[in-house]
Amino acid sequence: MKNRVALPEKGCRKSQLLEELAQRKGVDADWRHGRSWSLVYYGGDEHDAFLKQAYSTYFSENGVSPTAFPSVARLEAEVVSMVLSLLGGRGEEVGTMSSGGTESILLAMKAYRDWAVDSGMASGELEILVPESAHPAFLKAAHYLGLRPRPVALRDDFRASPEDAERKLTARTICIVASAPSYPQGVVDPIADLGAIAQRAGVGLHVDACLGGFVLPFMGRLGYQVPPFDFSVPGVTSISADLHKNGYAAKGASAVLYRNANLRSYQFFVTGDWPGGLYGSTTMIGTRPGGAVAAAWAALMRLGIEGYTEQARRGLEVARRLMDGIRAIPGLFVIGEPDMTVFAFGAHELDIFSIAERLQGMGWRMDRQHRPNALHMIATSNHEQSVDAFLDDLQRAVVEEQAHPRAVDGENPQMLYGVTSEIPADMDPVDYMRQQMGKVYDLS
Ligand SMILES: *Cc1c(COP(=O)(O)O)cnc(C)c1O
Repeated sequence: MKNRVALPEKGCRKSQLLEELAQRKGVDADWRHGRSWSLVYYGGDEHDAFLKQAYSTYFSENGVSPTAFPSVARLEAEVVSMVLSLLGGRGEEVGTMSSGGTESILLAMKAYRDWAVDSGMASGELEILVPESAHPAFLKAAHYLGLRPRPVALRDDFRASPEDAERKLTARTICIVASAPSYPQGVVDPIADLGAIAQRAGVGLHVDACLGGFVLPFMGRLGYQVPPFDFSVPGVTSISADLHKNGYAAKGASAVLYRNANLRSYQFFVTGDWPGGLYGSTTMIGTRPGGAVAAAWAALMRLGIEGYTEQARRGLEVARRLMDGIRAIPGLFVIGEPDMTVFAFGAHELDIFSIAERLQGMGWRMDRQHRPNALHMIATSNHEQSVDAFLDDLQRAVVEEQAHPRAVDGENPQMLYGVTSEIPADMDPVDYMRQQMGKVYDLS
């Protein structure tokens, strides 16, 4: 298909364009049939059709102005309230929606920064304590906001070490970060211990429940022991939870929640200093799609406690079948003891990335990670259809790899966030990545 590099003189036929768009998708990951393990949380065609209806009801509305669109603001307030009711809210807690986990995290870190400056509790180059398993959005936030991230070591079980967090506290620390669960190994950090440390030090504790926010709260009903991770834990002062992941909402929807309205007020931006008059914006972006708010509201109301509990039950069952199957293949191991539907697995003597290449050749899209080298999976109900086929192919890939092993080249985890690529041996991976990111926009 040829690139369209300039506007056509005359507009094209609608049917032709829709056909072309449908065709263009042919090169993409096959999420519908459960052959990729991240990026899309698919609740089925009927649920998708319903979300699209809800979204299109608010297709044109702009959430940046609660005075022009009070109904969008009210839907957002109701979404926040419903999510708070799931995550240990007792009445004082508040929040906002945002466009995604990254924005929720950026906003929370901004709130801590401006709160710390305003209250004079910390000065100099402000620091956040970021476990090595935390999502890169925290490093991105530090980068954007002029904060210094200080890494917190993991224990042997891949959970953040409270002892190391305590050691890394300084007079410039503004908050500690924890995950529920972490993306790489799917384990929940010791949040009660970290909360106690944060309280003693008078700093914030942000719990990143982007993945777990809509799974962990339902696990108790299913008979699982869930470690406490939400506002019920003393010391937890903010939480991020992604509606557009396990919340089964449309993309562009997350919740960022705070212990009280004072902390949240530091998230907001207001200026009176432009010709347009007083301008206030609650989040990072200006114009906000009303559709994403409406679809999130519709998802919460449609699924309810029962629906989410059922999604969690099915996702957890898929995860259990995958992990049991992987553990049964000689030479493979699951990393740590994952707490819910997210996990990674590696190989004892074989090159796990070479196994990934073989799986990719069989039509699976595999996410790579390192420290240690592993393949990453997020199980959802939509993978019920593909578990057995995946385990068969994985077994086959391992047997083939044993017969024709590729030399394990140790520390060269050739990976992007989810994608492999061959990094030239003489190039720094970070420089290489930056160059590749530019090439994405190259049409020549
Ligand atoms: C996905 C994710 C994020 C970032 O969310 P986006 O919606 O991709 O911006 C943050 N933390 C965790 C644990 C995640 O899984």
